[in-house]
Amino acid sequence: MMKILVMGTLLLGFLALYANIVPAGRQNIRSRRMLGMVRSPIAMVAGLINHEQDDEKDSGQIKSAENDGENVKVRKTEDEWKAQLTEEQYQVARCSATERPFTGKYWNHHQDGTYTCVGCGQELFSSDTKYDSGSGWPSYYKPVDKAAVDEIKDISYGTVRTEIVCSRCEAHLGHVFPDGPRPTGQRYCINSASLDFVEKGTDTPDKTGEKPAEEAKTSDD
Ligand SMILES: [Zn+2]
Repeated sequence: MMKILVMGTLLLGFLALYANIVPAGRQNIRSRRMLGMVRSPIAMVAGLINHEQDDEKDSGQIKSAENDGENVKVRKTEDEWKAQLTEEQYQVARCSATERPFTGKYWNHHQDGTYTCVGCGQELFSSDTKYDSGSGWPSYYKPVDKAAVDEIKDISYGTVRTEIVCSRCEAHLGHVFPDGPRPTGQRYCINSASLDFVEKGTDTPDKTGEKPAEEAKTSDD
């Protein structure tokens, strides 16, 4: 048994050597096929080693991309969300509950300013696009920026609706319906509990839980 293994290994070694020494044109088709069979396990081993190195490189790139620029996602543990939010805010923003109509802070709110995410502080809706939909929830015909909200198909309660979440911290905000006013025809029906209000001319509070990205840069000025 050992003899066969040793002979086999020697033969494979010889074939591999032959493949690299003899010019391709001088090998007949049959031996090239055999060499292909020999080469592939060698290539596989070499490939595996290269692949591991690639994986290391890739994970490094992902990490830096996550911390790059404005597309940073805000992720907190459930305990951190509970510590930051009131019970109602937590139920709505993190567990997709819906506040009762005509009970929230902002359905009948008319000041000039910006409505921000209760979880991460991202700017979501402007008072300029707020209108009275009669629903009992704050309603807007568009977000401040399309990138600020993500849409998710919601098939709960036997209906098909489009859920709206904050693109930065994935807080549940509400739903969007195609029965809004001009110019968009959209109705963003949002829970007050998922929002904070920042009066015009006031700074938006930072709720990302991260150190400001500008900190390092400003020291150069
Ligand atoms: Zn958010």
